[in-house]
Amino acid sequence: MVTTEQQTGSFSDLGLQPDVVRAAEEVGYEEPTPVQRQAIPLLLEGRDVLVQSQTGTGKTAAFALPMIQRVDPEERAVQGLVLAPTRELAVQVAETVHKLGKYRHISDLPIYGGQPYDRQLRALKRGVQIVVGTPGRVMDHIRRGTLNLDAVRMVVLDEADQMLDMGFIEDIEFILDETPKDRQIALFSATIPPRIRGLAKRYLHDPATISITSERLTVPEVKQEYVETGRDGKLEALTRILDMELPESAIIFVRTKREADELGETLVGRGYGAEVIHGDLGQAQRERAIAGFRDGRADILVATEVASRGLDIPDVSHVLNYDIPLDPEAYVHRIGRTARAGKSGTAITFVTPREWGLLKTIERLTRVKLERIPIPTNADIRERRVQVLRDALCHTLENEELERYASMLDGLTDQYGAGAVAAAAVKLLLDEEADLPEDDVEPEPEPGAERLFIRAGRKQGVSARDLVGAIANGAGIPGKDIGPVDIYDNFSFVGVPRRDAGRVIDALTRSGIRGRSVPVKVAVPEEKRPQRTGRR
Ligand code: ADP
Ligand code: MG
Repeated sequence: MVTTEQQTGSFSDLGLQPDVVRAAEEVGYEEPTPVQRQAIPLLLEGRDVLVQSQTGTGKTAAFALPMIQRVDPEERAVQGLVLAPTRELAVQVAETVHKLGKYRHISDLPIYGGQPYDRQLRALKRGVQIVVGTPGRVMDHIRRGTLNLDAVRMVVLDEADQMLDMGFIEDIEFILDETPKDRQIALFSATIPPRIRGLAKRYLHDPATISITSERLTVPEVKQEYVETGRDGKLEALTRILDMELPESAIIFVRTKREADELGETLVGRGYGAEVIHGDLGQAQRERAIAGFRDGRADILVATEVASRGLDIPDVSHVLNYDIPLDPEAYVHRIGRTARAGKSGTAITFVTPREWGLLKTIERLTRVKLERIPIPTNADIRERRVQVLRDALCHTLENEELERYASMLDGLTDQYGAGAVAAAAVKLLLDEEADLPEDDVEPEPEPGAERLFIRAGRKQGVSARDLVGAIANGAGIPGKDIGPVDIYDNFSFVGVPRRDAGRVIDALTRSGIRGRSVPVKVAVPEEKRPQRTGRR
């Protein structure tokens, strides 16, 4: 069954060449977002464009892909210029340009304040083709004579409203005046206040205007919730929500094919039953995944938008938007997978701080206010497990023949009393799945390093090299990010990037060091330690 309610189409339909399409696919994009669909063909034609589209809708690739295609790889001069308001945005855009320009061998350079001039100078001398920079620093380079814009064909003003808010208008005008009169300009902005219109009027030639807003949408009767997480805390938040919600069946939507594969693998590694579907899988593989999901072998299906759209996926109890959709219409389609035929359903959307605007658009267009739910704590999850066990006990007490089991415990109940025996049984049952960390770890790990405590040391034959090797291989972390390492007789400590700590613990517990599984946990910081341990 293929539904056609949503506009579809591939990157190559937009007029992009195979080299560029291939790079986009490799980044994991399956199909263009609405702003990409509209802006790319116009930019490839050479038109000036004025684009209104909010944060998180995929504007970077909307200008980067056509810019990369329009740059002549043989000509060693700056042909594309992107201005962005902040150093962070400039770096992000440059990274995207770099990845998308991979197969055309385009050389690109971010330039921003605070970075030494000489490094930028050396790169500029080598012949950079796309420059991404903040207005202030770009202007400095022009004034020093180290950046020549005579060969520029395309200029992008990214987040133009923000640049104006930051007082960059004069710098921008100075820079634009340094570029050839017939260059193409693309102006991207989340809002179009009069000042942006003014700027567009002065500099853009007969611009095409694109505005990505959708009509209001009607939404099915689904409980709609959202959680706020940092980008690094997402996975932890997801597993906690799964443990809390215990969905009968759930679809987890992610943005890219690669993410789908990675998340599927991670979930399976953590003991969840998950299948994966995305656009790179053949029809047979997809059908196998769906079959596994349909007959209950897996209760989780990790899917990309596209893959899910063409398939007849059964109704589910939960839709989890692990990546918030870039297109509000897609949100409505996604959550329509649950609460069909009068059954109840829950949709939970993960929102990172950058994606706040997307959440607000969804709320505006659906006229539904999503309810914020907290990330469950370990205490919440334990309580939930107890509740589930209580329900199961009640059900068994009311529905099953228990005499045979009661008689097994005759001696014990006489000695300890039935209540105590039952309590012990419950303890065993709960402990069996007590895989929660002892401490209530922060669900959103911050940047920085985490020190891990490993219960194996010199006497068990562990060396620093083994340890670093096991972490580097097992969790895919570069050796330079690991350390310091301290090996003691019976235990060791090692520092790893905080955001990777969970993965390292997983890897060491699963594959171990030199083939032996070892207990690993996050070391309790000095100030929280109940009493001093015997560290030398
Ligand atoms: P904006 O500039 O509009 O704020 P970005 O260009 O930063 O948005 O894109 C937001 C996120 O969406 C990024 O993580 C990006 O990798 C992802 N993205 C962009 N285009 C696509 C696409 N076609 N398919 C999937 N993900 C995409
Ligand atoms: Mg952007």
